[in-house]
Order: sequence, then C-alpha cells, then structure tokens
Amino acid sequence: MGTCRRVLIVDDDPILRVIVHSYFDNLGGFEIFQAADGRGALEIVEHRGHEIDFIMCDLNMPELDGIQFLRQLKDHVFSGAICILSGEDQLVVETAQKLAHLHSLRIVGALQKPLNVGDLDQLIPRISESDAKEKSRPFFSVSESALRNAIDKGQIEPFYQPKVEVSSRKIVGVEALARWTHPQFGMIAPGDFIPVAEQSGLIGNLTSAVLTRAMDDAKRLQACGIFIKTAINIAADLLHNLDFPDRISAEIEAAGLNPPDFVLEVTESGILQKTSDPMEVLTRLRIKGFGLSIDDFGTGHSNVDQLRNFPFSELKIDRSFIQGATKDSISKAIVDAAVLLGRELNMRLVAEGVETQSDWNFVAENGIDEIQGFLVAKPMPAMEFMRWHNEHGGSFTFSEQSAAKRDQRQAAHV
Ligand code: C2E
Ligand code: MG
Ligand code: MG
Repeated sequence: MGTCRRVLIVDDDPILRVIVHSYFDNLGGFEIFQAADGRGALEIVEHRGHEIDFIMCDLNMPELDGIQFLRQLKDHVFSGAICILSGEDQLVVETAQKLAHLHSLRIVGALQKPLNVGDLDQLIPRISESDAKEKSRPFFSVSESALRNAIDKGQIEPFYQPKVEVSSRKIVGVEALARWTHPQFGMIAPGDFIPVAEQSGLIGNLTSAVLTRAMDDAKRLQACGIFIKTAINIAADLLHNLDFPDRISAEIEAAGLNPPDFVLEVTESGILQKTSDPMEVLTRLRIKGFGLSIDDFGTGHSNVDQLRNFPFSELKIDRSFIQGATKDSISKAIVDAAVLLGRELNMRLVAEGVETQSDWNFVAENGIDEIQGFLVAKPMPAMEFMRWHNEHGGSFTFSEQSAAKRDQRQAAHV
C-alpha cells in the first residue's frame, strides 16, 4: 500500500491498541504512534501532525474525547486520513463522521467495536484511495522561512468579505482575511499558513502585515465616503501580550483612524487560557473602543459562564451551525442558544457562512443582526471590494441576475 507510513492509534483501551498495533506491525512499513486519549494524541499531532498519514481514533475517552479531538485536528489543519473506531451506537458514530466532514477532515471510515481484523483489511484500500486523491491536489508545504519571506515581501494581503445588516441590507463592515499570493504557487488559503505562523511565532508579524494593509484600505474607503467597520482576526497568542492593546491602538491612531473603526475577532480557544492575561488584554481593547467579536461560536469548549467574563460586543455563529440549522435539530438548538446568549449580553449577532436564500431566510427569522457568506460575496481584493460596493450602492440586493454575475466574477477567488 506504500503511501501510508505513519499511523497514530488513539484509544483508551490498551488491548485494542495492542491489536491494532500488531496489525500494522505485521503489514510492515509503518511507524506506529499511540495515545491513550485525545490529549496525548494532540501532543503528537502538535509536534508531528504533518508527518502522520493516518489516525485511528476512539470516541469515548477520558480527558479530551474523540469529538473534541476531531475539532482540534481541524484547528491543526490535519490533512491525513482518519478512521473512527468506536463502541458507541450507530447514530453517535454517524454524527461524529458528519462532524468530521463539516470540519473538512478526510474521514475514510468508521469501525465498530469489538474490532474485526477483516474490517481493517477493508480499510487499507480506502486509505490508499483517499491518499491518492489528496496527492492529486496541488500541494505546497509552507515552511517558516518561506512564510517569513512572504511577510517581509508583502505577499500577504487581506481580502475582504462584506458583512451585511439583515434588517436594512446595508453593507456595514468587512472581514479582512489573509491571502498569500505566492509567485510560483499562486493563491494560498489561510488554512495552509496561519497554523505555521502560529507555531513559528510569526503570527504577530502576520497580523501586523494584515492590519497595516487593512488600515490603508480603510483610509481609501473613507476617502470615498465609505465608513464601514473592518474586522481583523487576532490569534490567541497575541492575547498574552500585555502591550498589544497599546501597540495596536497607537498604530491605528497614527494612521488617522480610530479603534471603533475595527472589530477584533478572537476564537473561544483564545480566551480559554489558565492565565488572566487574555481577560486583561481584551478588557483594555474594549475600553479603547475596539469592537470585540467571539469568532466561530459553538465550536470551542468554553461554557456560557466563561463567555460572560469577557467584554465581547459581537457573537459570530460558526458556519457549520448556520448551514446545518435548516437540516438538523442540534445545529438549530445551538443557534437558538447563541441568539439567547447574544441578546442577554447585548451583543450583536452575526451569522457566518450564509450561502443560500434559505440560509438568509433562516437567519432573518431567528433575529440575527448581520450576515457574512457566499450568498453576498466571497472574500475579494481591496480594489474589487471598492468596485463591488459602488456597484451595489452600499447595500445588498439578491436577484438571480446578480447571483450569476457574482459567481462569474468570483470564480477566480479562493
Ligand atoms: P474565520 O475568521 O471564521 O473566517 C471565515 C471563513 O469562512 C473564511 O475562510 C471565509 O472565506 C469563509 N466563508 C465565508 N463565507 C462562507 C460561506 O458562505 N461558505 C463557506 N463554505 N465558507 C465561507 P478563510 O478566508 O479561508 O479563512 C479561514 C480562517 O483563517 C478564518 O476563519 C480565520 O480563523 C483564519 N484567518 C484568516 N485570516 C487571518 C488572519 O489575518 N489572522 C489570523 N490569526 N487568522 C486568520
Ligand atoms: Mg474571523
Ligand atoms: Mg469564523
């Protein structure tokens, strides 16, 4: 089978680990890693994730369970194959597979416990098939030095995705999303380089590069009479830097802009730290007038009480729940809970990933304030956003014609 060389077995049952280990050992040509729970597995993924070809993962484990581990694999942009190995009932296993798909993970199967070795035999060709598909995708492995060079040379710039107020249909903001235009490999999406930036300590430089360009673009927009808020993604690491509030506000004021022109988006994992630093940093940012948004809401491990401790002004519901809400009751329940929490804490509610008219109808019926998604537009370069904004006269109207025009123009963008 050749292509699958490093396998990670994650299961709290030592006997099962022995069985699977000896299976791969007998096949030959495998380096085998093992972990007794998601937390141990995560340590391996953090250090050697890019080298692991295949993970076999239990669902019910102490510490970090299989579902939490899948979420972490998404955050680490794990690109290997994954198989679930579980004694849970079929519905749980199917839901776990669906979740993995929503996380864009490469799930190749689910095996029921007690394990039958014949099932493993059937799995091997599926892994090879999935690996072959993955390899046929254009691939560029991002190194720290290539990324540093790209930041220094200004190859990373923000693309802008509009945010639209549901009630008025006005374009009220944009999210700045980093894009790397590589001279050789073309457009590289953030999922391929943000994790490298975070792991290598380059995330501060990258955020500054995005912010500097976003400030220039915001000034250009203001000069044309367009006053909208720019959202910037802030990685968790920066929330430990106690100078961050002073540095960012000084930079923004030096550019002739004001903190309220910006919304800083942080994910739940960014605030779930043992130290009080993120709380201090976020509170000072809020006092300085920045909007603060909790990004990808619903996907982290924070509980509602933890969120109450932070001065967020906006809650952004993750796109997996928005897209799932019209189809399944769990996603709908998560959206309902987010809306309740947002209302109670006086936060503006934003829905990500609105792709269809029925998604739009759903958010409008559920009292969400703003939306962002492919229905309106994909992220685009600054100049194009300016043209787009003017063409739309500052608000979004949906028609079949405009959808066709949008799709044509956006076919070129990530
Ligand atoms: P995010 O902050 O949650 O950004 C939203 C992502 O959803 C963007 O992906 C956007 O293109 C995508 N999206 C928006 N509408 C739709 C839709 O209708 N359907 C679908 N399928 N997707 C939609 P993108 O640009 O690939 O960014 C991915 C993530 O990378 C961002 O998620 C953010 O976490 C991170 N990121 C991007 N730029 C930066 C940055 O400058 N700094 C940091 N720290 N992270 C960044
Ligand atoms: Mg964001
Ligand atoms: Mg998000």
